[in-house]
Amino acid sequence: MTTTLVERLAEPDARDPLALASELDLRIQAFVNGEFADAVSGETFPCVSPSSGQTIAEIASCDQADVDRAVGHAREAFESGVWSRMAPRARKKVLLRFAELVSEHTDELALLETLDMGKPIRDAQRVDIPLSAECIAYYGEAIDKVYDEVAPTPESSVVLILREPLGVVGAVVPWNFPTLMATWKLGPALAAGNSVILKPAEQSPLTAIRLGELGAEAGLPPGVLQVLPGFGETAGQALGRHPDVDMIAFTGSTEVGKYFLRYSGESNMKRLALECGGKSPFVVFPDCDDLDAAATAAAWGVFYNQGEVCNAASRLLVHAEVKDELLEKIVAVSKRIRPGDPLDPKTRMGAIVDETQLDRVLGYIEAGKKEGATLHTGGSRTLEETGGYFVEPTIFDTVSNDMKIAREEIFGPVLSAITFTEEEEAIRIANDTVYGLAAGIWTSDVNRAHRAARAIRAGVVWVNTFDAGDITSPFGGFKQSGFGRDKSIHALEKFTDRKAVWIQLR
Ligand code: NDP
Repeated sequence: MTTTLVERLAEPDARDPLALASELDLRIQAFVNGEFADAVSGETFPCVSPSSGQTIAEIASCDQADVDRAVGHAREAFESGVWSRMAPRARKKVLLRFAELVSEHTDELALLETLDMGKPIRDAQRVDIPLSAECIAYYGEAIDKVYDEVAPTPESSVVLILREPLGVVGAVVPWNFPTLMATWKLGPALAAGNSVILKPAEQSPLTAIRLGELGAEAGLPPGVLQVLPGFGETAGQALGRHPDVDMIAFTGSTEVGKYFLRYSGESNMKRLALECGGKSPFVVFPDCDDLDAAATAAAWGVFYNQGEVCNAASRLLVHAEVKDELLEKIVAVSKRIRPGDPLDPKTRMGAIVDETQLDRVLGYIEAGKKEGATLHTGGSRTLEETGGYFVEPTIFDTVSNDMKIAREEIFGPVLSAITFTEEEEAIRIANDTVYGLAAGIWTSDVNRAHRAARAIRAGVVWVNTFDAGDITSPFGGFKQSGFGRDKSIHALEKFTDRKAVWIQLR
């Protein structure tokens, strides 16, 4: 029996990032008009393994000239109708094949993801890549099942309300779930008939480039899916300001989301969908009848993916009566979430994506201490001898909601526990944030569950669970967590425009 790429990682000798990178035959160029291409400038940037700090490849660094070139091809493909006017059933076939290819390459894509951004291989292989394939397949399946409308006008006319693809869509995505965030955009944008230019985060270009290639293999015509690795200020900004890009679908920080609003206003008023940051409250009421379940959900809610999750349960709002017991249980669960080599299949918490992010997380931990929060657990960098960027699961107690660690998105494994005594107080604190991405509520009272779920301003509210997800359920934020929804059938809407065709009858 042959062992798979991932099974081999059970042996420590098989986990050398440099050796793996050379074995995987990394794609390091941009993917433009159906082929690999160097950046027009010939420039490259280093791709660094977060688990060892080693440079594993030099990647094409795209900028304005590459964006101009790719937008030209994308526009040409769109206007030709080769994809945009292809029968929905035929588009479906290509997208289902694309999803199948992603599934068939699960091990390879999972390895690329882990090498590139440091998440545990176990998660990349079992969660990120399967969900990405599922997402592409979902929109492929959907596209020949959604109907347009006929307006209820008087009989003297027929008014068709059509949904048409927008044209050229720029997808600008972050590094925490590189493949998944990309497919949340590509799935519905391609299904709707658009041409897409994907700009991955500079920290995580590897799977995105491979996705471009797999899409072409599945039958996406040249120019329909292109991938431009590069920096935000160059490639990202050039897409955001390009007069011939019709829409930007963005996931990333609130700060950069606001740049895109500016780019759009200063260029062609392109449409935007912005999935931005969060500071999600995880509210535990005293009538919660399963504190063990709440503790497990709270620990994984903030430490999963090294805490690099937009909807991370980073603010634990807990009733004073149950605080000590709950914190003890959370600490017990977090002891099992130790940072380790992301390539080891047993590891449950990997490396922070890069040194800059590591310093940022450690800076927040220092700020928490300085502002008077009590460091309950963790708080340090660890495994320094590996050369990688690891932080211990960290829990602060006695946090007040005006401290920096309770207000700003840390994007690392840091939990801030805040105590309350009244339901109204809990809701007030939960809503006292510029963000509104997600929230969790733990209670055994169905009336309170409904009340609190309605009162908390967030795009997703989980009751007696956290971070549960399904491709059928929309995801996205209120307030400065952005606007527009990923996932579910509703995501198709933002990649189309409505056209009314009025036919006068005689
Ligand atoms: P950033 O906002 O820094 O970057 C996101 C993307 O925007 C990257 O591709 C980045 O490129 C690009 N970018 C950066 N600066 C500019 C610029 N000036 N102009 C145009 N594009 C730019 O986010 P991170 O990659 O650091 O990801 C973490 C953030 O993403 C967190 O705030 C998190 O909450 C959010 N996020 C939100 C999710 C949601 O669904 N709401 C899901 C996942 C993450 P480059 O990397 O090259 O700088």
